[in-house]
Amino acid sequence: MTQAIAPTCSQTAATFTGLKCKECGAEYEAKAIHVCELCFGPLEVVYDYDALRRTVTRESIQSGPNSIWRYRPFLPVATDTPIDVGTGMTPLLQANRLARRLGLKRLYIKNDAVNMPTLSFKDRVVSVALTRARELGFSTVSCASTGNLANSTAAIASHAGLDCCVFIPSDLEAGKVLGTLIYGPTVMAVQGNYDQVNRLCSEVANTHGWGFVNINLRPYYSEGSKTLGYEVAEQLGWELPDHVVAPLASGSLFTKIYKGFQEFIKVGLVEDKAVRFSGAQAEGCSPIAQAFREGRDFIAPVKPNTIAKSIAIGNPADGVYAVDIARKTNGNIESVTDQEIVEGIKLLAETEGIFTETAGGTTIAVLKKLVEAGKINTDETTVVYITGNGLKTQEAVQGYIGEPLTIEPKLDSFERALERAQTLDRLEWQQVLV
Ligand SMILES: *Cc1c(COP(=O)(O)O)cnc(C)c1O
Repeated sequence: MTQAIAPTCSQTAATFTGLKCKECGAEYEAKAIHVCELCFGPLEVVYDYDALRRTVTRESIQSGPNSIWRYRPFLPVATDTPIDVGTGMTPLLQANRLARRLGLKRLYIKNDAVNMPTLSFKDRVVSVALTRARELGFSTVSCASTGNLANSTAAIASHAGLDCCVFIPSDLEAGKVLGTLIYGPTVMAVQGNYDQVNRLCSEVANTHGWGFVNINLRPYYSEGSKTLGYEVAEQLGWELPDHVVAPLASGSLFTKIYKGFQEFIKVGLVEDKAVRFSGAQAEGCSPIAQAFREGRDFIAPVKPNTIAKSIAIGNPADGVYAVDIARKTNGNIESVTDQEIVEGIKLLAETEGIFTETAGGTTIAVLKKLVEAGKINTDETTVVYITGNGLKTQEAVQGYIGEPLTIEPKLDSFERALERAQTLDRLEWQQVLV
């Protein structure tokens, strides 16, 4: 016998029943809390999977909105009027030219560089967190951010009419800062790295009663990342891939793609399959890759120093869970240098017409490294997650992409310039060939 679904709010039937500690299993009400009072483990949302198996079908999902909210029964909100700004259902692109360059047979790109409204995967987690924040009665929302989260929180708070105050490290890229300020929140630029920003925010969360999307609302926020698993399964025709490659900051996104696949298997929406999970970090901030490499079960925090600022978390909250998933799925966690990250950004742009930010450059560079090391088999159906947009981190590629040819508004000036360009092209090709 399955239990009746317990609504946490009067609007509609919720499919989640509360929170549970990932470590000791202690249960809590679905409030704005994120740490177990008994063992300090992280709290996670609990669902009634029997009810989901009975009520959710491929058809019911497909007839839902063209956004993450088609998966609402798998998300921790009770309302059926969530904040929907068109987040999710981003393209899953078959990347034939990149695949050929790397020697893979079937490669797909999940392109969250064009996610709505702020061009990164963070719009998913924030749409869920702010919908839940509203249900829990918060009027001010906040976050500790490496850039993209501040963009999303500020934008979606504007849309929802919530007050917003965000905290960022003071050395972020100009595009990330501007892309927050435009929505008119209060922006605190903290003179310190992300881990210091995060510590400060934990104190503010305790004293101000604000909803911090990635602190006291973290159990709800993090569930939003599961939609990156659901969408790939649905877009592959209700099948799972053989191998996924995703970037790691706190490690949350990585663990939630895994959880999304597992849930779809559990409720019978896809066939069971052993998907391999590989993670990507920048060498200048690679505490999870180091733990994986050294076979450790704990994360040794580091001080970040890399151009991949959006994934520069030196003390990653979900690092140990990410290591565990990579290990048990026979995947890998690799890191790449800043130089390789820039080359990764260029490779994706030149082969597939997608301009990603440094996190995406990291992921592509790690993909390449894994293929070259034989750690991805050429016949595995592989999905690589591109999580952010390159227009936000323009300084990373400045000086590596050439210059426009400046010409006079005359045909002969154009012809001379074209000839020079073609000669240069030929020289470059000769260099490639020798
Ligand atoms: C935040 C972020 C990530 C990773 O997030 P975690 O869930 O903390 O691991 C990856 N890519 C981009 C572009 C991000 O902004």
